[in-house]
Amino acid sequence: MRRLTELAFDNSYARLPPAYYEVVDPTALGDPYLVAFNPDAAALIDLDPAEAAEPEAPAYLSGSRRLPGAEPIAMLYAGHQFGVWVPQLGDGRAILLGEVIGDRGDRWDLHLKGGGQTRFSRMGDGRAVLRSTIREYLASEAMHALGIPTTRALAITGSDDLVYREAPETAATLIRMAPSHVRFGTFQVFAARGQPERVAELADYLIRLHDADLAGEPDRHRRWLERIVDRTADLMARWMAVGFAHGVMNTDNMSVLGLTLDYGPYGFLDEYDPGFICNHSDHEGRYAFDRQPAIGLWNLARFAEALLELVPFDAANTALNRYPSRFEATYGSLIRAKLGLVTERADDPELVAEMLGLMAANRVDYTRWFRTLAVVPSGAAAAPESLRGMVSDLARLDGWIVRYGARLAAEGRDDGARRGAMNRVNPKFVLRNYLAQQAIDRARLKDYGEIERLRSLLATPFDEHPGLEHYADPPPPWGRELVVSCSS
Ligand code: AMP
Ligand code: MG
Repeated sequence: MRRLTELAFDNSYARLPPAYYEVVDPTALGDPYLVAFNPDAAALIDLDPAEAAEPEAPAYLSGSRRLPGAEPIAMLYAGHQFGVWVPQLGDGRAILLGEVIGDRGDRWDLHLKGGGQTRFSRMGDGRAVLRSTIREYLASEAMHALGIPTTRALAITGSDDLVYREAPETAATLIRMAPSHVRFGTFQVFAARGQPERVAELADYLIRLHDADLAGEPDRHRRWLERIVDRTADLMARWMAVGFAHGVMNTDNMSVLGLTLDYGPYGFLDEYDPGFICNHSDHEGRYAFDRQPAIGLWNLARFAEALLELVPFDAANTALNRYPSRFEATYGSLIRAKLGLVTERADDPELVAEMLGLMAANRVDYTRWFRTLAVVPSGAAAAPESLRGMVSDLARLDGWIVRYGARLAAEGRDDGARRGAMNRVNPKFVLRNYLAQQAIDRARLKDYGEIERLRSLLATPFDEHPGLEHYADPPPPWGRELVVSCSS
């Protein structure tokens, strides 16, 4: 176990040429204090969780004091924002403090969000508000526990310093962690500037660190692109299966490692609405829930364009053409698991489509539906009471249940074993918007207990958690109309 001052830094990104970043120190927050500290993320870098109680912890974790071995930089990137090309973005309020090597040899960026202005801040103040750091902290840990690749969250510090959004709010910082924070847009910026040698250097850097088996292979760039296509398709399938809407799938928010990155106005579905738009600023619904798979491919096409000097057009097209079948295969297997099916049948997609149609028409709570489905016995002749309470069109429900019951019977699997398996893939608890809001409202009163309660609950979302069942409830009326925007 290491102290904060003993972390093993190895700052490979800072050793790349300065074209990729700006060397910049975080701007200190006024009198920072610790809001949240995540022992699970600390364990990844062998950081002693007792360090959270040290008096210097808020200064180190807010970036006000430099961790020994850190070499802070702001990463350069560009991107398509809502389909519109923006030639330069970059870390405008995030700073890569450095990369820490865990005792198992794995590499973790320590990425400070809200650390003050950089060369890439444009009109922004470089800060993050308390609300948005709590949302990112809780969501990223919840996603990890659901088995979805994501950045992690180490700690939040707060300050009484004010920042101005729609209204004055207090500033906060978040340290997030990932093996790399490189985005599609990191490649796009150099391709657009006509610097294919920078594109190649960055690709080879990433291959060396994260796809080392491809290093030195003559066809490595093509194969690496194929992997990124696959990872992105898998990520979209996982988001769709769990009912997660990212909200801002700009190419600068797309990870080359296939991680969920840059949590902003995201949302987990409450009622199933395929056209759900979680981002209040997304007037056209570009990033609506059901558009995510298509947007994933659109973003990959922009990424492949940035690699054209490395992977020629035909090979890039072949790589992109993997996407639809890869997505369908992963999504299909996730959905079958959610339904408790172990075999695959030709008419499964129809069974699923009718279920989703029924859920949408009846505004069924997405998470509760799947969790409850486990009680349906194989060969069921009618829906059990627990499902009847969720649906108004009972004839349609019974029609589907009979079909599903027959499908289960055809598998001949023991009901008890199937229930157990379903409860291991259908979470009881997800980070519903209203739950995050409750933690935020308390934190504004400097009561941070709810953040930790939610984090630890969502760390085991498939367990029953007796006594905490109400955290699985659909939103109360006030929690259904929460508005979330990009301004964070
Ligand atoms: P996002 O939509 O949060 O991923 O941010 C898009 C871009 O805007 C990124 O380059 C951010 O660094 C930048 N940005 C967002 N908020 C701020 C802020 N308060 N200050 C400076 N830059 C910001
Ligand atoms: Mg971003």
